[in-house]
Amino acid sequence: MTQKLSSIIILLGAPGAGKGTIAQHLKDKYEVCHFSTGNLLRNEIQRGTDIGLKVKEIVASGGLVGDDIVSEIVEKNLTGAVAEGLVVLDGYPRTKHQAEVLDAMMFGKLKALIRVIEISIDREALISRLSQRLVCSKCGNTYGPIDGRSVCSCGGDLIKRKDDEEATVRERLKKYEEETLPVSGYYSDRLVRVSGDGAPDEVAQNVDKLLGSFGIERRR
Ligand SMILES: [Zn+2]
Repeated sequence: MTQKLSSIIILLGAPGAGKGTIAQHLKDKYEVCHFSTGNLLRNEIQRGTDIGLKVKEIVASGGLVGDDIVSEIVEKNLTGAVAEGLVVLDGYPRTKHQAEVLDAMMFGKLKALIRVIEISIDREALISRLSQRLVCSKCGNTYGPIDGRSVCSCGGDLIKRKDDEEATVRERLKKYEEETLPVSGYYSDRLVRVSGDGAPDEVAQNVDKLLGSFGIERRR
């Protein structure tokens, strides 16, 4: 491995754009440390850390875990991981404020190189894809009809989520766009778009090419 420079890849993409599939591809084919906000939060809760207890309380009362807590957890986990190489961030930063906090961490301490990959997809195609997708009941990976699976690679059963109904999907997309626009805007100088319209293999190939252009090679 000639990869001396640490890189942080931030994955952006609307729900259903295939971000989960790409994240899985990166985990399978590259030497990466993959962080999703959900997993990090669950991990803290399970380990019963101070911050995990705080999160548990917030979640139990039906509240949303705030920016600052999420950023604190990400920072805690990133510090070690970045020293080892490639980190993929999935679901973070979600707000412009979190993006600013991340930059402050990076430029202040970790000096990692942040690259942002946005999986973009045609809106109507996305809506039809989302209303047909299946989610793993065990690990949360998502699959589309094109994957033709009924069982996840982890062995978990695939189920259809209630909020994948079309009306809910439209609402969720609108919310996602409102929320993420400031984030992609913030990263406009570091953001590269990859079309998510093709088959998962094609999209993965395009991501490979892009990473190659960054000097990041697949695991051998
Ligand atoms: Zn699974």
